[in-house]
Amino acid sequence: MRFSRRDFLAVAALGSLARGLEAQEEKTKDARRAETKTMALKRPIIICAANGLSYLDEAFEMLRGGADTLDAALRVVRGPEDDPEDSSVGLGGLPNEAGVVELDACCMHGPTRRAGAVGGVRNIKNVSLVSKAVMEHTGHVMLVGEGAERFAVAQGFSRENLLTDRSRKVWLLWKETHSDQDWWGPGLASPEWKTPPEAPPAPHSEIWEKKLKKMERVAADLGIEPEYRLKAIHQVLFPPTGTIHSSALNDKGEISGCTTTSGLAWKLPGRVGDSPIIGAGCYTDQDVGSAGATGSGEENIKVAGAHTIVENMRRGLSPQEAGMDALKRIARDYNHDMNKLRFVDMTYYILRKDGAYAGVSLWEGYEPDRPHKIAVHDGTKRAENTVALFKGSSVGWPPIPRLGK
Ligand code: ASP
Repeated sequence: MRFSRRDFLAVAALGSLARGLEAQEEKTKDARRAETKTMALKRPIIICAANGLSYLDEAFEMLRGGADTLDAALRVVRGPEDDPEDSSVGLGGLPNEAGVVELDACCMHGPTRRAGAVGGVRNIKNVSLVSKAVMEHTGHVMLVGEGAERFAVAQGFSRENLLTDRSRKVWLLWKETHSDQDWWGPGLASPEWKTPPEAPPAPHSEIWEKKLKKMERVAADLGIEPEYRLKAIHQVLFPPTGTIHSSALNDKGEISGCTTTSGLAWKLPGRVGDSPIIGAGCYTDQDVGSAGATGSGEENIKVAGAHTIVENMRRGLSPQEAGMDALKRIARDYNHDMNKLRFVDMTYYILRKDGAYAGVSLWEGYEPDRPHKIAVHDGTKRAENTVALFKGSSVGWPPIPRLGK
């Protein structure tokens, strides 16, 4: 075989390039090892979104007592599902534009590598448990709408009205004062989209003041308690998101995750966000780790956030690096246009199989004084601020209020 000088040079060049890359890789690995060392790795450990904090003690005890990792994670997310005061999940969740609460959830069981999901479910509160029932009692992964509801009833879940009196009144406030500002029409991702002139931080204007005064009046007429009125107005103007994700790891290294939500307030009936999408709202791989999401569901679906993060960790990225990469993909989807990105927000909760974890978010918080947090229990329960890609806070989303005429 002839081996020319050019071949030699090419191979030599490749060799030095490879050596360069190897050195670079070693450096990155060292940095990662250092990052992991500063984090005292513990198992068992359970992580979740901040609204699950008060349910972590019980879930951690379950893990310590040898309970299944998915059951421990479900214990956490069932808390907000049962709580009528949590308007982002289960009972008391804010409804769709027709005033009907529709819930989404999914789960993944690491040890048996199975998954279950439900979307757009009405009248059943604990959809996270229904997603587990789909995983255990069907040959499918996902059921939606009426079929999912019927399946849940067949499994012994009871039907109930999920619209609490308070959620109904906030929905009426939206109907009476703001429902011309809905989710119809091209969204933020449309190339035609332009920042509405009234979008925050729009200058303090008369039209705003008039609008807010009217909303306060209607809220009072509807019987919304004075101490809740401001929050109700905020929920109408900036359709809130919420959701809860939890991932749990036991001392044997088994790992599972689940996510549940009532999704976006005032959404179109039938809209399903990222939460029940395996690979977006939640993804768990027994070989690597688990990740889940809360925030702008439409954006997260497009980057398959949870799956992207787990695959990044499989390639050797730390939990934080893995999450940051997913966030950068969201920024890339908007060509780094901060005028649009300020209306988007996303938080990822990430747990690696060795117990390393991270909470990362696109922005530091929804408002300057409401930082995004990840809740953790590894023997000590705490809520930690997430590490943000961008400094500052997002401007409620979607890009409204558009004040109309
Ligand atoms: N991601 C959820 C959804 O888009 C909402 C949320 O996390 O708050 O349905």
